Amino acid sequence: MAVAQTTEFDIVIAGAGMVGASLACLLADTSLRIALIDRLPLTPASDSLEQLSSDKFDPRVSAISQASQQLFRDIGVWDGIAAKRVCNYQAMEVWDAEGTGSISFSATQIREPELGSIVENSIITTMLHNRIAQLENVTAISPFSIDSFETIADEWGSCVQLNAGEGQSIRAGLVVAADGANSKLRQLAHFECREWDYEQHALVTTVRTEREHLNTARQRFLETGPLAFLPLRVAQNDDDQHFCSIVWSMLPEQAERMLALSEAEFNTELSAALEFKLGEIQWSDKRFVFPLRQRHAIDYVKDNIVLVGDAAHTIHPLAGQGVNLGLLDVRALAEELTGGIQAGRSIADSVVLARYQRRRKGNNLSMMWLMEGFKRLFAQQDLGIRWLRNMGMNAADKMTPIKNQMVRKAMGLDN
Ligand SMILES: Cc1cc2nc3c(=O)[nH]c(=O)nc-3n(C[C@H](O)[C@H](O)[C@H](O)COP(=O)(O)OP(=O)(O)OC[C@H]3O[C@@H](n4cnc5c(N)ncnc54)[C@H](O)[C@@H]3O)c2cc1C
Repeated sequence: MAVAQTTEFDIVIAGAGMVGASLACLLADTSLRIALIDRLPLTPASDSLEQLSSDKFDPRVSAISQASQQLFRDIGVWDGIAAKRVCNYQAMEVWDAEGTGSISFSATQIREPELGSIVENSIITTMLHNRIAQLENVTAISPFSIDSFETIADEWGSCVQLNAGEGQSIRAGLVVAADGANSKLRQLAHFECREWDYEQHALVTTVRTEREHLNTARQRFLETGPLAFLPLRVAQNDDDQHFCSIVWSMLPEQAERMLALSEAEFNTELSAALEFKLGEIQWSDKRFVFPLRQRHAIDYVKDNIVLVGDAAHTIHPLAGQGVNLGLLDVRALAEELTGGIQAGRSIADSVVLARYQRRRKGNNLSMMWLMEGFKRLFAQQDLGIRWLRNMGMNAADKMTPIKNQMVRKAMGLDN
């Protein structure tokens, strides 16, 4: 990582989360001068990972698809992530709280070693930031919180200047907005979005269960929202299978009530909500709540600004696809940018950026509609629809080729 002296770059990546930091790593072997900025200080590895221990987990985890794993391998961070701890899950069970419908997926059915890996977000970002510290052409500038931007045109073309407080500013020919779901850049640049409130909050925490998770991810669809139990591993050399990360989507007032419960009361409610599939919940960590919104930018590109990851699309966490879609975005953007440079095009060439948008928008949109469909289908209380839903799940469970195709798509293998 270079020291921040110059304030002029070819590309500024705004946001050093999993998506923005991955893009910086993907562009490491180019001649491009890149700045990676974040409003928060990029934590040195030892600080954030020291807090994680055999009974202390990051409450935010991601189900990482095989395609995302491959990206992390390509940029040289997967071995470090896996050495810290990841839980490779080999099976997934999904069932309807209202009836007998269920569907299960297994890695052996599709001849893969695993369906995916559950990884704590802070392990991923720490490994990415460590990698960035080794890159010659990437300058990390933090804290830098974007307040405003202006487009500056001269005879050579145009560039964007980002301004932070206290007179700090930075310029680049292309700005990539990777600043998350509430992207300041997207708002400042007036990108139009289609968005709606799910009227659900996601409650997340870590729990210890009476029974072993058997490296299986579980999801129960309740009327008020899905409850997911994602298996965790305490260390790479420790096969204790009693810890899970949970994501419980529920009505906002229900989330408020859950936050107010004592640990014992919460554990009792949670055990029942999973129908005691893993026995009693014996321990649970601090609870956090995130409001859920679906949002999709109508365009991903406007002049010299391009959106990636959650800045472009936020999606219900029920299928664990959010960051996986963001990583597919930056893989496509990096390919188009390097291809464009090799073809002698400028960094913010509209043809190059339009190609990125074409490659990603339809794919993201179809995943978002699928999640919306699931959410609506499982919220239906009409008896006929519930019956059809249960029949449909059971029928899909028996249609092995279709089921396997669904799994391969979710794993990012057939995109
Ligand atoms: C409960 C829950 C569970 C989820 N589970 C999964 C899962 O299992 N699998 C999956 O694939 N996805 C999952 N997701 C989605 C996933 O977490 C997001 O898709 C992912 O974090 C988006 O990454 P990002 O880098 O685009 O944005 P973020 O992670 O939000 O990173 C944005 C970065 O930009 C910085 N920033 C923000 N504003 C500014 C500013 N003004 N100036 C400078 N920097 C700024 C922030 O500090 C941050 O570092 C889940 C989401 C939720 C809410």
